Amino acid sequence: MKLLEERIRQEGLILSDTVLKVDSFLNHQVDTVLALEIGKEFGRIFADEPVTKVLTIEASGIQFAMATAIALGVPFLYAKKKKAVTQSDAVYSVPVHSFTRQETYQVSVSRRYLGPDDNVLIVDDFLATGAALAGLVDIVNESGAKLAGVGCVIEKSFQEGRDLLERKGVRIHSLVRIASMSPGEIRFAEEERT
Ligand code: 5GP
Repeated sequence: MKLLEERIRQEGLILSDTVLKVDSFLNHQVDTVLALEIGKEFGRIFADEPVTKVLTIEASGIQFAMATAIALGVPFLYAKKKKAVTQSDAVYSVPVHSFTRQETYQVSVSRRYLGPDDNVLIVDDFLATGAALAGLVDIVNESGAKLAGVGCVIEKSFQEGRDLLERKGVRIHSLVRIASMSPGEIRFAEEERT
């Protein structure tokens, strides 16, 4: 997605060889017009799948899951990282190690909202080590739902996430793929054509 590559070039801050900060338009302050375009793009890419639900993980996947769900005309669901006092339902739950926060937390989704009749599209902001998305894939598999695929806004292709998901047999589409980066320099892999 050229628009997104340009925005990353203009506003992205490369903090190290592995961490890209996009706080001004993607995952702190959010450009809503761009978020809706991202949703439409995922909707277009996965138009061949009868998706019933979009799934993400809180917090920074939410705006893209919502935009995608709007484009597809289905609800979206976000996995929670902490158990709330209001959460009395039975849940699907998996441990996930966070790349950016360097901690492990338990991710959960209510059994009430995911089951064998669903065809799920998972969406998230970044694909790095793949731990977060692999956790969501495990939750979908445990629920008995079908997995339509994974849509990722920014993939850092030099990290192991794509390999991990492909080994699980998952269909992945990333809107932007970063081949390499270092402070002051970024190189994109050729955009995926669908
Ligand atoms: P993973 O589980 O694939 O290692 O990382 C997934 C999560 O870590 C993403 O949902 C995202 O929130 C965060 N993340 C990973 N790499 C980056 C990065 O370079 N920049 C930012 N802003 N977040 C990242």
